[in-house]
Amino acid sequence: MKRIDGKQISEEICRKLKEDINKTCGRKPGLACVLVGEDPASRIYVTMKINKCQEMGIYSKIIEFSKNVSEKEIIEELAHLNQNRCIDGILVQQPLPKHLSTAKIIEAMGPEKDVDGFHPLNMGKLLLGEGGGFVPCTPLGIVKLLEKCGTQVEGKHVVIVGRSNIVGKPLALLLLQKGKYCNATVTVTHSGTQHLAEQCRRADILIVAIGNPLFIKDTMVKRGAVVIDVGMNRIDKGIVGDVDFESVKEIASKITPVPGGVGPMTIAMLLSNTYKSFKRKC
Ligand code: NDP
Repeated sequence: MKRIDGKQISEEICRKLKEDINKTCGRKPGLACVLVGEDPASRIYVTMKINKCQEMGIYSKIIEFSKNVSEKEIIEELAHLNQNRCIDGILVQQPLPKHLSTAKIIEAMGPEKDVDGFHPLNMGKLLLGEGGGFVPCTPLGIVKLLEKCGTQVEGKHVVIVGRSNIVGKPLALLLLQKGKYCNATVTVTHSGTQHLAEQCRRADILIVAIGNPLFIKDTMVKRGAVVIDVGMNRIDKGIVGDVDFESVKEIASKITPVPGGVGPMTIAMLLSNTYKSFKRKC
């Protein structure tokens, strides 16, 4: 078994990105993070993103709202950020409180600043296989991770467990694209899937994003498969993935750890998308 070191791979990507940013004259790329409410996990994720921006020479700011904020107030702030010439990327940290429509808020962002790739226009471009949009950071990070660790994806059977709008669905669309690092045969499974273990055992590459700690056991994995664990679940012992790493590592040819696998790649892709947005304006 080979452990896929997402931390190291993301650091290499960030090192190159920092060099590119250092070479730019005048203003630096800018990222605004909208944080609503008191969710401690959301605050940790936003702080991690902001800290990484500072390390990379990207200007960043957090716009905080209380959990009772109205949709109108957030949409007005997004309208300002859309006009702000120092801001190249905007992200709205999810999940949002239940009284807010995530869809309406995402749609209020200018698609050209939607570095998370969740705006319907960017999702539509991904669906149609058109370039020029932003691809969601976690799926993009997973494809980069597979590329960098020398896993051939083209022609392989990828099984994705989970169909969320931020991971499973866009990842399936990305892996279906024609291209050297995609062009896979993709099966998407979810809570309504029958014989899930059997489906998983058919995967050359198994990617799991369900939010259920240590759910995937060795009996659900084909010997020699590559296993990518997207899950980040807080339990008494700390943070664990959706895959039971200790048992599955004996079966898999390559596997990502949690933490230190997909997580750092997601942040690297966010910064990379922000830089891409900045470059388009230069
Ligand atoms: P969601 O809750 O939005 O979606 C979970 C998906 O998993 C749903 O499609 C659900 O099915 C499916 N599912 C849940 N339980 C099962 C099951 N027992 N069998 C089969 N399918 C199941 O989660 P997210 O996609 O937002 O996140 C998933 C995990 O990934 C979380 O742990 C999250 O913290 C982590 N994450 C990590 C990131 C990173 O950068 N490392 C980034 C984003 C997320 P159904 O649709 O039928 O309900």
